[in-house]
Amino acid sequence: MYTALKPILDTELQGIKDQSLWKEERVIMSPQGREITVDGKKLLNFCANNYLGFSGTDGVREASDAALAKWGFGQASVRFICGTQGIHKELEAATAKFLGMDDAILYSSCFMANVGLFQTFFGPDDAIISDELNHASIIDAVRLTKSERLIYTHMDMADLEAKLKSVKDKRLKVIATDGVFSMDGHIAPLKEICDLADKYGALVMVDDAHATGVLGATGRGTPEFTGTEGRIDFLTGTYGKALGGAGGAFIVSHQEVVDYLRQRSRTYLFSNAMEVGTCGASLYTIDYIQKHPELVKKLKDNTTLFRTLMTEAGFNVAGGEHPITPVMFAEEKQAVETAKALFDEGIYVVGFSFPVVPKGKARIRVQISAAHTPEDITTIVEKFAKVSGKN
Ligand SMILES: *Cc1c(COP(=O)(O)O)cnc(C)c1O
Repeated sequence: MYTALKPILDTELQGIKDQSLWKEERVIMSPQGREITVDGKKLLNFCANNYLGFSGTDGVREASDAALAKWGFGQASVRFICGTQGIHKELEAATAKFLGMDDAILYSSCFMANVGLFQTFFGPDDAIISDELNHASIIDAVRLTKSERLIYTHMDMADLEAKLKSVKDKRLKVIATDGVFSMDGHIAPLKEICDLADKYGALVMVDDAHATGVLGATGRGTPEFTGTEGRIDFLTGTYGKALGGAGGAFIVSHQEVVDYLRQRSRTYLFSNAMEVGTCGASLYTIDYIQKHPELVKKLKDNTTLFRTLMTEAGFNVAGGEHPITPVMFAEEKQAVETAKALFDEGIYVVGFSFPVVPKGKARIRVQISAAHTPEDITTIVEKFAKVSGKN
């Protein structure tokens, strides 16, 4: 009987609107890319996770088409029954090799990879120590275990150490962190985290969704950026951001970990094999990145240019070296209204407000891509200045 639920939803939905927190889904009528079409208008796109500019290109689509032509559409099976095709093994091998780990296992999404990871290895006898700003998928994944949960202050190593010290008589301890925090662009201090893990006998889990293909001289992610390659026990990542953008995900880890996940991980065992077109596109992007290190370099140069020009123009830009560059606003409404004004100026960005970010920390999260030209970067800075009355 819907009559009990409807009035609750009516009140909740009205409340979201009254607080100006309603999130509108804009309809894009073009492929993803540097430039997109919305409401019949061409806009420069500065809010995709399309860090290397692969999304929407002919290259990834052709790689996907070729994989579909060879392997056919749809396995109608999970991996262990009759869903494993040659291309799945090829992608697992290429991903493990690129990231320098023993083996890789594919998932439909990084959300599912995180859910499938924690419940497989950690139970009531174990403790999970998690950064307070970790992605929703880690939070939910950890909740599905019966492990002791300890939340440490965001990137606060003293608090992490205190939490590690406080764990008594547990079989396993694991530190869980995003490699890059998606709302802030913060890069996790993996060296310090690994040192503490060694000191207290803990495992290290990193979700590198925003970093694979993005950080490090050759795009191998936060471990490469922080010099901790070989010290991370479980690394989850997605093909749905820098590596093509359609979806699909992976865990790379020690051989025994991957072997055990294939036997026991519920979101792997009881969910369809990864779609083969996406496998083909992901193989293409991994190969391309390794042959064209200048792509990662271009992303880095664009990011530096944007940060420098915005700071010079008097904006408060948070984050660090990652292409996620939050432009901060004192008022919730200001972020949303500035994004609207930028839309009218041909720039597509989104204002984030509570509950996506904490109250009082509203922002426009600008995401830089290697697809942008230096002129695009100058344009967005000029438009920001124009709509904010800073010129
Ligand atoms: C985007 C993101 C995910 C989800 O990835 P999907 O493959 O889209 O499910 C998981 N973790 C982090 C840190 C992310 O930023």
